[in-house]
Amino acid sequence: MSDTQHAIPKQCAGCGVKLQTERQKEPGYTPAAALSRTPVVCQRCFRIKHYNEAIGTTLNQDDFLKIVGGIAAEEALVVNIVDLFDFEGSLIGGLHRFVGNNPVILVVNKVDLVPKSINPNRIINWVQRQAKENGLQTVDIVLCSAKKNIGFERVIESIQRHRAGRNVVVVGATNVGKSTLINRLIRDYSDLDAELTTSPYPGTTLDVVRIPLDDGKAIIDTPGLVYTHRLTELVEKKDLGVIMPDKEIKPMVYQLNSGQTLFFGGLARMDFVRGEHQSFTCYVANSLGIHRTKLERADELYANHQGEMLSPPDKEGLEKLPPLSKQAVRIPRGGQQDVLISGIGWIKVNSDAGCELNIYVPKGVKVAIRPSLI
Ligand code: GDP
Repeated sequence: MSDTQHAIPKQCAGCGVKLQTERQKEPGYTPAAALSRTPVVCQRCFRIKHYNEAIGTTLNQDDFLKIVGGIAAEEALVVNIVDLFDFEGSLIGGLHRFVGNNPVILVVNKVDLVPKSINPNRIINWVQRQAKENGLQTVDIVLCSAKKNIGFERVIESIQRHRAGRNVVVVGATNVGKSTLINRLIRDYSDLDAELTTSPYPGTTLDVVRIPLDDGKAIIDTPGLVYTHRLTELVEKKDLGVIMPDKEIKPMVYQLNSGQTLFFGGLARMDFVRGEHQSFTCYVANSLGIHRTKLERADELYANHQGEMLSPPDKEGLEKLPPLSKQAVRIPRGGQQDVLISGIGWIKVNSDAGCELNIYVPKGVKVAIRPSLI
Protein backbone atom coordinates (compact mmCIF):
# COMPACT_ATOMS: atom_id res chain seq x y z
CA MET A 1 0.00 0.00 0.00
CA SER A 2 1.54 3.32 -0.97
CA ASP A 3 1.50 6.63 0.84
CA THR A 4 -0.84 8.02 -1.78
CA GLN A 5 -3.58 5.54 -0.88
CA HIS A 6 -3.56 6.52 2.79
CA ALA A 7 -3.10 10.04 3.99
CA ILE A 8 -0.42 9.78 6.70
CA PRO A 9 -1.65 11.23 9.96
CA LYS A 10 0.94 13.79 11.00
CA GLN A 11 1.68 12.41 14.42
CA CYS A 12 1.90 9.06 16.20
CA ALA A 13 -1.17 8.60 18.41
CA GLY A 14 1.10 7.03 21.04
CA CYS A 15 4.08 9.34 21.49
CA GLY A 16 3.30 12.30 19.25
CA VAL A 17 6.42 11.89 17.06
CA LYS A 18 6.10 13.02 13.41
CA LEU A 19 5.29 9.92 11.34
CA GLN A 20 7.20 8.80 8.24
CA THR A 21 7.23 5.60 6.15
CA GLU A 22 10.66 5.63 4.53
CA ARG A 23 13.51 5.52 7.01
CA GLN A 24 13.15 2.40 9.17
CA LYS A 25 15.92 3.24 11.58
CA GLU A 26 14.65 6.72 12.34
CA PRO A 27 12.05 7.95 14.81
CA GLY A 28 8.47 8.07 13.64
CA TYR A 29 8.84 5.15 11.20
CA THR A 30 5.73 3.14 10.54
CA PRO A 31 5.35 0.62 7.70
CA ALA A 32 2.97 1.94 5.02
CA ALA A 33 0.78 -1.13 5.57
CA ALA A 34 0.19 -0.04 9.16
CA LEU A 35 -1.41 3.22 8.09
CA SER A 36 -4.77 1.49 7.70
CA ARG A 37 -4.80 0.60 11.41
CA THR A 38 -6.55 2.86 13.87
CA PRO A 39 -5.09 4.51 15.78
CA VAL A 40 -1.95 4.97 13.69
CA VAL A 41 1.14 4.66 15.84
CA CYS A 42 4.85 4.53 15.10
CA GLN A 43 6.56 1.13 15.10
CA ARG A 44 8.18 1.72 18.50
CA CYS A 45 4.82 2.47 20.12
CA PHE A 46 3.33 -0.54 18.35
CA ARG A 47 6.03 -2.77 19.84
CA ILE A 48 5.59 -1.35 23.33
CA LYS A 49 1.84 -1.90 23.16
CA HIS A 50 2.32 -5.42 21.80
CA TYR A 51 4.83 -6.13 24.57
CA ASN A 52 2.50 -4.89 27.27
CA GLU A 53 -0.30 -7.10 25.93
CA ALA A 54 2.02 -10.11 25.85
CA ILE A 55 3.43 -9.88 29.36
CA GLY A 56 0.27 -10.37 31.38
CA THR A 57 1.46 -13.76 32.59
CA THR A 58 3.07 -14.56 35.91
CA LEU A 59 4.62 -17.74 37.23
CA ASN A 60 4.94 -19.64 40.45
CA GLN A 61 8.35 -20.78 41.61
CA ASP A 62 8.09 -24.30 40.08
CA ASP A 63 7.21 -23.13 36.57
CA PHE A 64 9.74 -20.37 36.88
CA LEU A 65 12.49 -22.84 37.73
CA LYS A 66 11.63 -24.82 34.57
CA ILE A 67 12.50 -21.76 32.53
CA VAL A 68 15.53 -20.94 34.59
CA GLY A 69 16.60 -24.59 34.35
CA GLY A 70 16.48 -24.17 30.55
CA ILE A 71 18.75 -21.15 30.76
CA ALA A 72 21.59 -23.28 32.08
CA ALA A 73 21.42 -25.41 28.93
CA GLU A 74 21.93 -22.39 26.68
CA GLU A 75 24.50 -19.67 26.43
CA ALA A 76 22.89 -16.56 27.82
CA LEU A 77 23.52 -13.42 29.76
CA VAL A 78 21.09 -13.38 32.69
CA VAL A 79 19.77 -10.01 33.83
CA ASN A 80 18.13 -10.30 37.24
CA ILE A 81 16.08 -7.27 38.23
CA VAL A 82 15.49 -6.72 41.93
CA ASP A 83 13.70 -4.01 43.88
CA LEU A 84 15.87 -1.94 46.23
CA PHE A 85 12.80 -1.22 48.36
CA ASP A 86 12.27 -4.97 48.90
CA PHE A 87 15.73 -6.36 48.29
CA GLU A 88 15.52 -9.61 50.26
CA GLY A 89 11.88 -10.15 49.22
CA SER A 90 12.59 -9.79 45.51
CA LEU A 91 15.87 -11.68 45.32
CA ILE A 92 15.40 -15.00 43.51
CA GLY A 93 16.41 -17.72 45.95
CA GLY A 94 18.66 -20.34 44.39
CA LEU A 95 19.02 -18.52 41.04
CA HIS A 96 22.74 -19.26 40.97
CA ARG A 97 22.04 -23.01 40.97
CA PHE A 98 19.93 -22.83 37.83
CA VAL A 99 21.82 -20.52 35.52
CA GLY A 100 24.81 -22.84 35.10
CA ASN A 101 27.95 -21.03 34.09
CA ASN A 102 26.06 -18.12 32.59
CA PRO A 103 26.97 -14.68 33.91
CA VAL A 104 24.41 -12.72 35.93
CA ILE A 105 24.01 -8.94 36.01
CA LEU A 106 22.06 -7.73 39.02
CA VAL A 107 20.00 -4.66 38.12
CA VAL A 108 18.81 -2.96 41.29
CA ASN A 109 15.76 -0.88 40.42
CA LYS A 110 13.85 1.88 42.25
CA VAL A 111 16.97 3.65 43.46
CA ASP A 112 14.91 6.88 43.30
CA LEU A 113 13.21 5.82 46.55
CA VAL A 114 16.24 6.11 48.83
CA PRO A 115 17.48 9.54 49.94
CA LYS A 116 19.61 11.24 47.28
CA SER A 117 22.25 12.09 49.87
CA ILE A 118 23.40 8.45 49.97
CA ASN A 119 26.52 7.68 47.99
CA PRO A 120 25.63 5.17 45.22
CA ASN A 121 28.92 3.33 45.81
CA ARG A 122 27.83 2.66 49.35
CA ILE A 123 24.62 1.09 48.07
CA ILE A 124 26.53 -0.98 45.52
CA ASN A 125 28.90 -2.27 48.21
CA TRP A 126 25.95 -3.13 50.41
CA VAL A 127 24.17 -4.94 47.53
CA GLN A 128 27.38 -6.81 46.73
CA ARG A 129 27.68 -8.08 50.31
CA GLN A 130 24.00 -9.00 50.55
CA ALA A 131 24.01 -10.77 47.17
CA LYS A 132 27.05 -12.77 48.23
CA GLU A 133 25.44 -13.58 51.56
CA ASN A 134 22.49 -14.97 49.58
CA GLY A 135 24.78 -17.08 47.41
CA LEU A 136 24.37 -15.03 44.24
CA GLN A 137 27.46 -14.46 42.12
CA THR A 138 27.27 -11.50 39.78
CA VAL A 139 29.50 -10.10 37.04
CA ASP A 140 28.09 -6.64 37.60
CA ILE A 141 25.70 -4.70 39.82
CA VAL A 142 23.91 -1.68 38.36
CA LEU A 143 21.63 0.74 40.19
CA CYS A 144 18.80 2.32 38.25
CA SER A 145 15.36 3.80 38.32
CA ALA A 146 13.29 2.64 35.37
CA LYS A 147 10.58 5.09 36.30
CA LYS A 148 12.75 8.17 36.74
CA ASN A 149 15.16 7.21 33.98
CA ILE A 150 18.21 7.11 36.24
CA GLY A 151 21.15 4.85 35.43
CA PHE A 152 19.60 3.44 32.30
CA GLU A 153 22.70 4.03 30.17
CA ARG A 154 24.71 2.02 32.67
CA VAL A 155 22.28 -0.89 32.36
CA ILE A 156 22.66 -0.88 28.57
CA GLU A 157 26.40 -0.47 28.77
CA SER A 158 26.70 -3.39 31.18
CA ILE A 159 24.53 -5.63 28.98
CA GLN A 160 26.61 -4.72 25.92
CA ARG A 161 29.86 -5.31 27.78
CA HIS A 162 28.89 -8.75 29.08
CA ARG A 163 26.66 -10.09 26.32
CA ALA A 164 29.40 -11.34 23.97
CA GLY A 165 26.96 -12.39 21.23
CA ARG A 166 24.59 -14.20 23.57
CA ASN A 167 20.85 -13.89 24.14
CA VAL A 168 19.86 -11.82 27.16
CA VAL A 169 17.39 -13.52 29.51
CA VAL A 170 15.63 -11.10 31.87
CA VAL A 171 14.24 -12.50 35.12
CA GLY A 172 12.56 -10.86 38.09
CA ALA A 173 9.82 -11.15 40.68
CA THR A 174 6.58 -9.29 39.92
CA ASN A 175 6.41 -5.58 40.75
CA VAL A 176 10.16 -5.02 40.65
CA GLY A 177 9.71 -2.78 37.58
CA LYS A 178 10.71 -5.31 34.93
CA SER A 179 8.15 -4.21 32.36
CA THR A 180 8.87 -0.51 32.97
CA LEU A 181 12.54 -1.23 32.27
CA ILE A 182 11.89 -3.38 29.19
CA ASN A 183 9.53 -0.77 27.77
CA ARG A 184 12.48 1.60 27.85
CA LEU A 185 14.73 -0.99 26.22
CA ILE A 186 12.24 -1.47 23.39
CA ARG A 187 11.80 2.24 22.95
CA ASP A 188 15.45 3.11 22.84
CA TYR A 189 17.46 0.06 21.88
CA SER A 190 15.71 -2.81 20.14
CA ASP A 191 16.24 -3.49 16.45
CA LEU A 192 13.41 -1.73 14.65
CA ASP A 193 13.56 -4.04 11.62
CA ALA A 194 12.53 -7.20 13.39
CA GLU A 195 9.24 -8.26 14.92
CA LEU A 196 8.63 -8.72 18.61
CA THR A 197 7.20 -12.20 19.16
CA THR A 198 6.06 -14.49 21.92
CA SER A 199 6.93 -18.18 21.87
CA PRO A 200 7.43 -21.01 24.34
CA TYR A 201 10.78 -21.10 26.09
CA PRO A 202 12.89 -24.03 24.78
CA GLY A 203 11.95 -27.26 26.52
CA THR A 204 8.83 -25.77 28.17
CA THR A 205 5.31 -24.72 27.26
CA LEU A 206 5.76 -21.38 29.01
CA ASP A 207 5.54 -18.28 26.87
CA VAL A 208 8.28 -15.70 26.83
CA VAL A 209 8.54 -12.46 24.86
CA ARG A 210 11.43 -12.19 22.39
CA ILE A 211 12.70 -8.73 21.64
CA PRO A 212 15.06 -8.88 18.66
CA LEU A 213 18.54 -7.39 18.76
CA ASP A 214 20.64 -6.24 15.81
CA ASP A 215 22.81 -9.37 15.65
CA GLY A 216 20.00 -11.91 15.36
CA LYS A 217 20.00 -12.59 19.11
CA ALA A 218 17.19 -11.47 21.39
CA ILE A 219 16.26 -10.12 24.76
CA ILE A 220 14.05 -12.84 26.25
CA ASP A 221 11.63 -11.55 28.83
CA THR A 222 10.36 -14.25 31.19
CA PRO A 223 7.06 -13.93 33.07
CA GLY A 224 7.19 -12.27 36.49
CA LEU A 225 7.82 -14.61 39.40
CA VAL A 226 5.15 -14.47 42.10
CA TYR A 227 6.45 -14.68 45.67
CA THR A 228 3.67 -14.98 48.21
CA HIS A 229 6.12 -13.91 50.95
CA ARG A 230 5.84 -10.37 49.57
CA LEU A 231 3.03 -8.28 50.93
CA THR A 232 2.75 -6.62 47.51
CA GLU A 233 1.36 -9.94 46.21
CA LEU A 234 -1.15 -10.33 49.01
CA VAL A 235 -2.81 -6.93 49.37
CA GLU A 236 -5.60 -5.67 47.14
CA LYS A 237 -4.65 -3.61 44.10
CA LYS A 238 -5.98 -0.40 45.62
CA ASP A 239 -3.73 -0.85 48.68
CA LEU A 240 -0.62 -1.31 46.53
CA GLY A 241 -0.61 2.43 45.90
CA VAL A 242 -0.54 3.00 49.66
CA ILE A 243 2.28 0.61 50.56
CA MET A 244 4.51 1.09 47.50
CA PRO A 245 6.25 4.46 47.71
CA ASP A 246 6.32 6.39 44.45
CA LYS A 247 8.89 9.01 45.40
CA GLU A 248 11.88 9.46 47.69
CA ILE A 249 11.00 8.09 51.13
CA LYS A 250 11.13 10.60 53.96
CA PRO A 251 12.16 8.38 56.87
CA MET A 252 10.16 8.71 60.11
CA VAL A 253 12.16 8.58 63.34
CA TYR A 254 10.57 7.31 66.59
CA GLN A 255 12.26 7.60 69.99
CA LEU A 256 10.88 4.61 71.89
CA ASN A 257 11.11 3.03 75.30
CA SER A 258 10.65 -0.69 75.69
CA GLY A 259 6.95 -1.39 76.16
CA GLN A 260 5.92 0.68 73.16
CA THR A 261 4.42 -0.45 69.87
CA LEU A 262 4.24 0.90 66.32
CA PHE A 263 1.46 -0.08 63.90
CA PHE A 264 2.02 0.25 60.15
CA GLY A 265 -1.55 0.77 58.99
CA GLY A 266 -3.17 -2.54 59.90
CA LEU A 267 -0.59 -4.55 57.97
CA ALA A 268 2.29 -4.87 60.41
CA ARG A 269 3.20 -4.14 64.00
CA MET A 270 6.47 -3.79 65.89
CA ASP A 271 6.58 -4.29 69.67
CA PHE A 272 9.69 -3.00 71.43
CA VAL A 273 9.90 -5.71 74.07
CA ARG A 274 13.30 -5.22 75.70
CA GLY A 275 16.22 -2.81 75.33
CA GLU A 276 17.44 0.68 76.16
CA HIS A 277 15.59 3.83 75.10
CA GLN A 278 16.56 4.25 71.45
CA SER A 279 15.45 5.53 68.07
CA PHE A 280 13.90 3.52 65.25
CA THR A 281 13.91 4.95 61.73
CA CYS A 282 11.04 3.76 59.53
CA TYR A 283 11.62 3.63 55.78
CA VAL A 284 8.08 3.01 54.61
CA ALA A 285 5.80 4.71 52.07
CA ASN A 286 4.80 8.08 53.44
CA SER A 287 1.20 7.23 52.54
CA LEU A 288 1.18 4.38 55.09
CA GLY A 289 0.07 5.73 58.48
CA ILE A 290 2.21 4.80 61.51
CA HIS A 291 0.53 4.71 64.95
CA ARG A 292 2.44 4.62 68.21
CA THR A 293 0.87 3.13 71.32
CA LYS A 294 1.70 1.33 74.58
CA LEU A 295 2.42 -2.36 74.10
CA GLU A 296 -0.07 -3.21 76.86
CA ARG A 297 -2.81 -1.46 74.86
CA ALA A 298 -1.81 -2.70 71.42
CA ASP A 299 -3.99 -5.85 71.24
CA GLU A 300 -7.06 -3.88 72.28
CA LEU A 301 -6.29 -1.05 69.86
CA TYR A 302 -5.94 -3.53 67.02
CA ALA A 303 -9.15 -5.38 67.95
CA ASN A 304 -11.13 -2.12 68.04
CA HIS A 305 -9.62 -0.25 65.11
CA GLN A 306 -8.45 -2.78 62.52
CA GLY A 307 -9.85 -1.99 59.09
CA GLU A 308 -10.61 1.59 60.18
CA MET A 309 -7.99 3.78 61.89
CA LEU A 310 -5.51 0.94 61.42
CA SER A 311 -5.75 0.49 57.66
CA PRO A 312 -5.04 -0.59 54.98
CA PRO A 313 -6.50 -3.15 54.70
CA ASP A 314 -10.08 -1.98 55.08
CA LYS A 315 -12.70 -4.32 56.61
CA GLU A 316 -13.24 -6.15 53.33
CA GLY A 317 -9.53 -6.49 52.62
CA LEU A 318 -8.96 -7.90 56.12
CA GLU A 319 -10.94 -11.02 55.27
CA LYS A 320 -8.72 -11.75 52.29
CA LEU A 321 -5.40 -11.44 54.15
CA PRO A 322 -3.90 -14.08 56.44
CA PRO A 323 -4.17 -12.99 60.10
CA LEU A 324 -1.23 -11.20 61.73
CA SER A 325 1.25 -13.64 63.20
CA LYS A 326 4.05 -12.89 65.64
CA GLN A 327 7.78 -13.40 65.08
CA ALA A 328 10.24 -12.76 67.88
CA VAL A 329 13.30 -10.90 66.61
CA ARG A 330 16.58 -10.41 68.49
CA ILE A 331 18.80 -7.62 67.25
CA PRO A 332 22.30 -8.53 68.39
CA ARG A 333 24.75 -6.09 69.96
CA GLY A 334 27.09 -4.44 67.50
CA GLY A 335 26.52 -2.67 64.18
CA GLN A 336 23.24 -1.15 63.11
CA GLN A 337 20.62 -3.44 61.69
CA ASP A 338 17.44 -3.19 59.61
CA VAL A 339 14.31 -5.22 60.11
CA LEU A 340 12.91 -5.67 56.60
CA ILE A 341 9.22 -6.42 56.21
CA SER A 342 8.80 -7.56 52.62
CA GLY A 343 6.57 -5.11 50.76
CA ILE A 344 6.31 -2.57 53.57
CA GLY A 345 9.91 -1.39 53.80
CA TRP A 346 12.28 -1.54 56.74
CA ILE A 347 12.91 -0.27 60.26
CA LYS A 348 16.45 0.72 61.10
CA VAL A 349 17.41 -0.02 64.71
CA ASN A 350 19.81 2.77 65.60
CA SER A 351 21.34 1.66 68.86
CA ASP A 352 24.21 -0.82 68.84
CA ALA A 353 23.22 -2.13 72.27
CA GLY A 354 20.87 -4.76 70.80
CA CYS A 355 17.19 -5.23 71.60
CA GLU A 356 14.27 -7.63 71.47
CA LEU A 357 11.30 -6.99 69.21
CA ASN A 358 8.14 -8.78 68.24
CA ILE A 359 7.16 -8.25 64.63
CA TYR A 360 3.60 -9.02 63.50
CA VAL A 361 2.89 -9.51 59.80
CA PRO A 362 0.23 -11.39 57.81
CA LYS A 363 1.25 -15.03 58.12
CA GLY A 364 3.85 -16.00 55.51
CA VAL A 365 5.19 -12.50 54.85
CA LYS A 366 8.99 -12.41 54.94
CA VAL A 367 10.80 -10.64 57.79
CA ALA A 368 14.58 -10.36 57.45
CA ILE A 369 17.33 -8.91 59.63
CA ARG A 370 20.24 -7.37 57.77
CA PRO A 371 23.04 -4.84 58.16
CA SER A 372 21.60 -1.35 57.64
CA LEU A 373 21.32 -0.19 54.04
CA ILE A 374 21.41 3.47 55.07
P1 GDP B 1 6.88 -5.73 36.87
O1 GDP B 1 5.75 -6.45 37.54
O2 GDP B 1 8.20 -6.14 37.41
O3 GDP B 1 6.82 -5.76 35.39
O4 GDP B 1 6.78 -4.21 37.36
P2 GDP B 1 6.17 -2.91 36.67
O5 GDP B 1 7.09 -2.40 35.63
O6 GDP B 1 4.75 -3.16 36.31
O7 GDP B 1 6.25 -1.93 37.92
C1 GDP B 1 5.63 -2.25 39.15
C2 GDP B 1 5.40 -0.97 39.93
O8 GDP B 1 6.65 -0.39 40.29
C3 GDP B 1 4.65 0.10 39.13
O9 GDP B 1 3.79 0.76 40.02
C4 GDP B 1 5.76 1.01 38.65
O10 GDP B 1 5.30 2.33 38.48
C5 GDP B 1 6.74 0.94 39.80
N1 GDP B 1 8.11 1.18 39.36
C6 GDP B 1 8.77 0.62 38.32
N2 GDP B 1 10.03 1.10 38.24
C7 GDP B 1 10.16 1.98 39.25
C8 GDP B 1 11.24 2.82 39.70
O11 GDP B 1 12.33 2.86 39.15
N3 GDP B 1 10.99 3.58 40.81
C9 GDP B 1 9.79 3.58 41.45
N4 GDP B 1 9.65 4.37 42.50
N5 GDP B 1 8.78 2.81 41.06
C10 GDP B 1 8.96 2.03 39.98
